[in-house]
Amino acid sequence: MRGRSVAALVFSTVLTTGLTTGLAGPAHARTTDEPVPTDRTPVATGFGGAVSSVDPDATAIGLDVLRRGGNAVDAAVATAAALGVTEPYSAGVGGGGFLVSYDATTQRVTTIDGRETAPAAMTPDAFLGPDGTPRPFPELVNSTLSVGVPGTPATWERALAEQGTMTLTQALSGARSLAERGFVVDEEFREQTVDNAERFRDFSSTAQLFLPGGDAPAVGSVFRNPDLARTYQLLGEQGAGAFYGGELGRAVVDTVAAPPVADGVSREVLRGRMTLDDLLAYRAPDREPTRVVHDSASGTVEVYGMGAPSSGGTTVGEALNVLDALDSRLGPTTDPVVSEHRKLEAAALAFADRNRFVGDPDVQDVPQQRLLSPEFAAQRACPVRDDAVLPRPVAPETGCDATGETDPEPYEGQSTTHLVTADAAGNVVSYTLTIEQTGGSGIVVPGRGFLLNNELTDFNAAPAVAGQPDPNLPGPGKRPRSSMSPTIVLADGRPLLAAGSPGGATIIGTTLGILVDRLDRGVPLPEAVAAPRVSEQNGTATSAETAYVESARGQALAALGHVFRPVEEIGAAAALEFLPDGRVQAVAEPVRRGGGAAGVVHPAP
Ligand code: GLU
Repeated sequence: MRGRSVAALVFSTVLTTGLTTGLAGPAHARTTDEPVPTDRTPVATGFGGAVSSVDPDATAIGLDVLRRGGNAVDAAVATAAALGVTEPYSAGVGGGGFLVSYDATTQRVTTIDGRETAPAAMTPDAFLGPDGTPRPFPELVNSTLSVGVPGTPATWERALAEQGTMTLTQALSGARSLAERGFVVDEEFREQTVDNAERFRDFSSTAQLFLPGGDAPAVGSVFRNPDLARTYQLLGEQGAGAFYGGELGRAVVDTVAAPPVADGVSREVLRGRMTLDDLLAYRAPDREPTRVVHDSASGTVEVYGMGAPSSGGTTVGEALNVLDALDSRLGPTTDPVVSEHRKLEAAALAFADRNRFVGDPDVQDVPQQRLLSPEFAAQRACPVRDDAVLPRPVAPETGCDATGETDPEPYEGQSTTHLVTADAAGNVVSYTLTIEQTGGSGIVVPGRGFLLNNELTDFNAAPAVAGQPDPNLPGPGKRPRSSMSPTIVLADGRPLLAAGSPGGATIIGTTLGILVDRLDRGVPLPEAVAAPRVSEQNGTATSAETAYVESARGQALAALGHVFRPVEEIGAAAALEFLPDGRVQAVAEPVRRGGGAAGVVHPAP
């Protein structure tokens, strides 16, 4: 998406020699040192490893790492760091994320939890105003009260140390050069900047970086971020310690305490209380992945995902289990309307349990095993019928009677980015990272070139259902619940698929939709990614892309009783699949968010 730069591929000494992008599509010869736009390609098939992301520069940097002998983890960190340059409103060292990986040597799936944490000073009522009701949401977003301790630097360092082959300096080298050399601004980058311009203006550091001369960078201009290049250099030299206690961390703490509010801004900017101790205490722990065994049309597969504090793995997993239970009870179906209806019912049931039970597992018990057990799914599937829609909202953990109370849909942002990588040895990474809102808190750390997240707005400011325990209230050192769903699917113990998406709580529906299309309905992965999307969240209406609502299937579902709220676009997925003939296929968005970039090391379409 963002600006495309072939120069980004050739800038550094490490990257210069004999570089070809490996991105399918028209080749570009480099004629000058100036960055020029590169093309995006939604599907690439071949050998030697693959990368898919929303951005061609980032994908090309990941592929180059693979080409130079790096493995899937090295490539994932390199790609993520590049996205911090070209997708600075969605990802960066000021945020967090979840990295799921398959290690071909141990044949195990592991996960790293790089979710942001609340400062130790955060209290459960932190987001309530003086009258005891939640503060207006924009007040929380555009503040440092919602800034969590970033987890991305720790994630990168840990992933490389545990599973990579490169140093942080090596893995960040492509992104550092990209930040120095710059990329060509496209419509999407300009549009996102324009959309955020009003709040960016409130902070002098942000306006200086993203509104040069007072306006969003023009389409076709070159956007450079030398401050971020220096940040990456420092991280490489000093390790993540530069962040967790060092110079970068001090800059974060200072910015949280005293955000650079521009002259003339009269509104109150709420301040967080983050200390250097909060940063020193930060850990990106390994978590047990979620795992369900799913009876897909293409055989039995194991679906691995991210456990709490993300709700992605349990919610996608529970929904798949409910679908299996429905196949047993009602019989398998090939009817597209019935199949889709069951998917929506399964998602609603799983969402009810997610809202009720999933939060930070270090703070409260999250009954992950129960949520993922086939017995629980069979109990949950009990009220589902093929000829009627369960009244929304359905209640959590019920059996045949699933009638619920009103459950306001908790808010989650619409930013974030997902990437997948695979190498020739069969290692795979599925990684979603975020700064929460598009543009995060809107506050750039002065002189450091990155935005701070507003991830703590993923907490519920007050209990979602009065009188019902809420696992997702703010708390000291606590991680807010996420919906990020980086997923890896194994068949016969070997990687088959990897997928994920941004989109806040819609991520779950996007990921579930791709898995069901590909695994249960036999839809080729590129079509599964491109297909019109729906996001059932157990609310009063189901968000769905217009093309979904207007399709014959959408109309039949509406006739059955589903209530749709049309939206322009849901998610921006990235995925890959190992094909039976040994090739790997990388898949990106053909259209959403301006289209993504899939690439393989040795194309063999
Ligand atoms: N903050 C959201 C989450 O963790 C992600 C935001 C997004 O995807 O846009 O689920």
